[in-house]
Amino acid sequence: MRSRAVIALGANQGEAVETLRRVVSELRTDPHMVLRGSSPVVQTVALTLHGYDPSAPRYTNQVVVIDTDLDAPALLRSLQRLEAAHGRVRRERWGDRTLDLDLIDMTGVRMRTPWLTVPHPRAASRPFVLGPWLRADPRARLDGVPVSALLARAQATGGAIG
Ligand code: ATP
Ligand code: MG
Ligand code: MG
Repeated sequence: MRSRAVIALGANQGEAVETLRRVVSELRTDPHMVLRGSSPVVQTVALTLHGYDPSAPRYTNQVVVIDTDLDAPALLRSLQRLEAAHGRVRRERWGDRTLDLDLIDMTGVRMRTPWLTVPHPRAASRPFVLGPWLRADPRARLDGVPVSALLARAQATGGAIG
């Protein structure tokens, strides 16, 4: 298990809490992963193309930290298989979904391709990622910056989008 990876889970359709519970247990039993930390499940206001929308179905979010022997593209493929297995349908960007699994950060990995950017380019401004991440790993850093500092900044700016 050579790399540590941070994965953000989100769902706002279907039995979201149950979906996340199942996904975490599937990650736990994956032979390529060892679960090192997980946050509590939190409920958050939906981020849509039009901004944060309190009238949209709320999200259930969680962050888990794993060690894995997969490289980043293979890990993304595993996450996308799990999304599909849990009924993810890709329609409009940031639309409602049964499951979203994003690779937030991976030790030693920096890449930017059309299909995978690591660290996740929008994580640093998203309280719904940073908050649970801090609960899963109180000493977490993103690009060398304490996640606690990023969270304070994101909350102060209202969790700016983008
Ligand atoms: P956001 O990335 O802003 O959270 P989203 O999660 O709703 O939006 P998706 O529809 O899940 O976006 O994914 C769109 C594409 O993003 C995927 O096809 C995937 O290839 C790409 N992608 C790029 N970087 C990442 C990453 N770090 N984690 C997950 N998907 C990524
Ligand atoms: Mg996402
Ligand atoms: Mg995604």
